[in-house]
Formats: sequence, structure tokens, C-alpha cells
Amino acid sequence: MNSLHIKQFIYQLGIPCVGIAPGQFPAPPPPARPCPLAAGQGAERYEPERLLSPCRSIIVMLFPYYVADPPTANLSLYCRSTDYHLLIRRYLQTVEAYLHQHYPSCRTLSVADTSPLADRYLAYLAGLGFIGDNDCFIHERYGSYCFIGSILTTLPLTPDTPLHRECYHCGACRHACPGHCFDGADYDYRLCKSYLTQKKGSLSLPEIEVLRKTPLIFGCDMCQAVCPHNAEIPETPLNDFKENRIYTLSHEAIASLSNREFQRKYGNRAFAWRGKKILLRNMEYLRLPPSMPEQAHGYTQQQHADENRRTYNKRNE
Ligand code: SF4
Ligand code: SF4
Repeated sequence: MNSLHIKQFIYQLGIPCVGIAPGQFPAPPPPARPCPLAAGQGAERYEPERLLSPCRSIIVMLFPYYVADPPTANLSLYCRSTDYHLLIRRYLQTVEAYLHQHYPSCRTLSVADTSPLADRYLAYLAGLGFIGDNDCFIHERYGSYCFIGSILTTLPLTPDTPLHRECYHCGACRHACPGHCFDGADYDYRLCKSYLTQKKGSLSLPEIEVLRKTPLIFGCDMCQAVCPHNAEIPETPLNDFKENRIYTLSHEAIASLSNREFQRKYGNRAFAWRGKKILLRNMEYLRLPPSMPEQAHGYTQQQHADENRRTYNKRNE
């Protein structure tokens, strides 16, 4: 079935990139060490039929989100607008309504980031770009600053062809990564700053040291910021992602809020999903003078060295 008019409708909504992935496809090897924050950890990442059966096609859309905010920002680029899950959901619901109007017997299911499916792989299958050495999905025009939203459907649409493209393999992401996450054969999430800023509980000294390498209190953009594929990308054409931005969050702005007040004020923000406590913890780690992390943790220099060695050994197991 030709998908042209579906794509045209999607373009009319202002979404600049859409492609069709097949509903079933051979699975690539799952990640060696999947991040525990991902909903899908194994084979379920590549099995859309577990969510919608029969899944005949997947309509995949990219939502660019790059905006040139001031360099004083202390929040990752992806969480400065209203929570992208909420924004994307509205677009996907509009597309689903269109599909149901034109194909009353079809069934659909929208997914964006929180399903077990490997969104980036779906976008690759839909011919929208390629996956770089920094593990990010990269679009030719909008770089890697793109959210991915998809609609699984029973409609048999003609799939697009994946691009035969690779990133420049320049190594900039590997060199810039504060957690050395790309030093092994596969991406290792355990010292990824983005993961650590969302990890619950106290952090170990090596983890705190990673956190303190860059000024962001939530997320980490380093492996994207240095990537030449992001060098001259345009700002997002989607106004929703340009409006209501918060790019800096101060201790004063949240410290005195009750949890309820915090949720009321920031509950529609992606940086708020772990709550106020984690943000304050990250701010504290970043505010400590260079000599303080050990005292804050009660670690001796020897314990620090031992922990570094244990972490290194684990990473090289
Ligand atoms: S987000 Fe930061 S810490 Fe994580 S892999 Fe990228 S550069 Fe490394
Ligand atoms: S920084 Fe270089 S190696 Fe890393 S993803 Fe971009 S082009 Fe590839």
C-alpha cells in the first residue's frame, strides 16, 4: 500500500522526517550491556508483534529538537522544552486519528522512547539515517538532536530502504566522553554521565568525578556536541520544542519547594521524572570544591584508588 498521502499528512503537521519500517525484521544482536533505564533489554527490542499483532508496518517520525540556547545552560538539550513525551504524544495521536479516519479497520499503537522497542533501529530501518559511533541516531540534516516517535500499524505499507551510510568515525565522541563509555568494544553505560545524573541513591567517587567533568546537572550532551554531524544543523522547525524553555535550573529555584510544589511547577519537564532530590544531589556534587568529594563521602584516598581499580577491572572483564 502506498504511504505517500500518509507522509504528506505528517509533513503538513510540521514533522519534517517520516519513513516506513517493516513490521517484522531480522533482529541485530542486542546491546552487550543494555542501560537499565531502557524499557527493552533483549529480544523484545526487536519484536513489535509483542505490542501489536499483526504488526505489518511501522511509521517512524523524527522530531528535531536543537535550539541554540545560551552556553550557560545546565540542563541537557533534550530536556529544556516541555517534556518531549507529552509533545510527541500529541502529534502521534493526531496521526493515529487520521489513519483511523481513512482506514477504519486498521489498528495502531504509538510508541516514543518508553516502549521496549529499539527506536533508533526502527528509524534506521525506515531509511531516516544511521547510527553513529556515539550510539546516537543521526539524520543527515538535523544531526542527532532528534526524538523518535513511531506508530505500529496493521496496515501493509511499502517500507522504505535503510541508508548505506556511516558516521565519519572521527573519534571525537570517544575522546570527549567524560565517562570513557566508548573505550571498549561496546558502549558501556555504567559511567555515562547522562545515566549517572538519573541514577538513584548516592554515587561512588568515580561516578561523582564523571559528574563533575562538565557543568550539566541533568543529562550530558558531550558525545553529540562534538560530533561533526551536528556542526551546522538548523534549529528545530517545530515551535512546540522552541517554546517554554528552561535551560538553567538553580538550587534556589527548587530547594525550598515541597515535592508537591516541585511536581506542580516542573512535572511536565523531562528532567523532573526522578524528582527534586536527585537534581539537588547532582547540584551538590557539582558545587563541592575539588577537595570535598572525598570528605562528602567519607572515603580515604586509598579507598578511592581501590574503587577506581575495581571499576576499571569490571569495565575490562
Ligand atoms: S552522554 Fe556523555 S557520558 Fe554518556 S556516552 Fe555521551 S559523552 Fe559519554
Ligand atoms: S563524533 Fe565522530 S566518531 Fe563520533 S559519532 Fe560523530 S562522526 Fe562518528
